[in-house]
Amino acid sequence: MAFDDFFMKVKKENILHNYRYLKESKKKEIIAVVKANAYGHGIEQVVKLLQEEGCKYFAVARIWEAKKILRLKLKNIKVLVLETIEEMELLKVFDELEIFINSISDLKKALSKGISTSQMHLKIDFGFGRNGILESEIKKLEKIIQENDLKFKGIATHLFDCTHEDMLDIENKFDKIISNLGRDRFEMIHSQNSAGVISIEGKGCTHIRCGTILFGLQEIGYYDPYIKRSIFLVGKISGIKEVKNLKYIGYEKKENLNILDTDKVAKIRIGYGDGLSKRSENIMSIINNKKYKIIHISMDSSFVVVDDSVKVGDEIEIFHDLEEAIDYLKVPHYEFLSCINDRIERVLI
Ligand SMILES: *Cc1c(COP(=O)(O)O)cnc(C)c1O
Repeated sequence: MAFDDFFMKVKKENILHNYRYLKESKKKEIIAVVKANAYGHGIEQVVKLLQEEGCKYFAVARIWEAKKILRLKLKNIKVLVLETIEEMELLKVFDELEIFINSISDLKKALSKGISTSQMHLKIDFGFGRNGILESEIKKLEKIIQENDLKFKGIATHLFDCTHEDMLDIENKFDKIISNLGRDRFEMIHSQNSAGVISIEGKGCTHIRCGTILFGLQEIGYYDPYIKRSIFLVGKISGIKEVKNLKYIGYEKKENLNILDTDKVAKIRIGYGDGLSKRSENIMSIINNKKYKIIHISMDSSFVVVDDSVKVGDEIEIFHDLEEAIDYLKVPHYEFLSCINDRIERVLI
């Protein structure tokens, strides 16, 4: 890395703290959801870290993400793909791979291809309309299960951003469906994502299946004070110029930017090519505990308005205040943080 390259500082201790805390306080095993590059934390490093801590289950959304984990060749882990995959034959090649069965036709297809039910988790949908076998199809499912006397690796449902009553309602319905299908047909039972972990007990469940809370990116309204944030986007000031000597700041005519000739601008080595969206223009950064505005973002670099106290080599942090950033960008923190791409190194500290 060059002295002024940005990097994502990933606090190992905080991820481990969250993992241990959730496991102990919820009294369930954890399926660590590491999709979207582990919500920006770096999928490979995070998986290795948690595997060393004893985590045996990882979940991703795409087969491509699962392959990244499988390539690490770690012992005693399973990788669950949450969305339907076309390449079901891969399950025969990789014993560690497991899938969500998101519809009756998924199930029929998997069975016809000779996929082992010990690699399948049935997913029941209670009306979010994303993925899953619908309540109206349960009778059909029950028939297939009984006719073939099937036993699965797991059964699951997903809780969305619904009201607390709806969550409790789903928890009960899910539990009843499992009783009807036969509890001993499933080794694992899981329903709670991060919001669910905070809101409900997870009656009858063996595992929690969470991402954002594990990494300390809590959602507003679902907050646990013991959870710790684990990533910080930091870099160094690579150069400082006086505005009066410049015609352009990056690609922008200085008249078009809200700055004065008496101002100074600092160049930093991060831009939209790194996943820092141009929509973050005018957001505040932190240098030496003081806030400074990022006024222009280009492909490889960006500019911050600074004062005389800021020097080349000083540390700068972006998205220091997540609530402020959420408020400004009008999207959740796990969106803008997971957009920071692979050109920014993840450094476990
Ligand atoms: C993303 C996802 C999760 C994890 O959600 P968090 O809110 O980040 O905990 C769990 N289950 C499914 C099916 C998902 O798609």
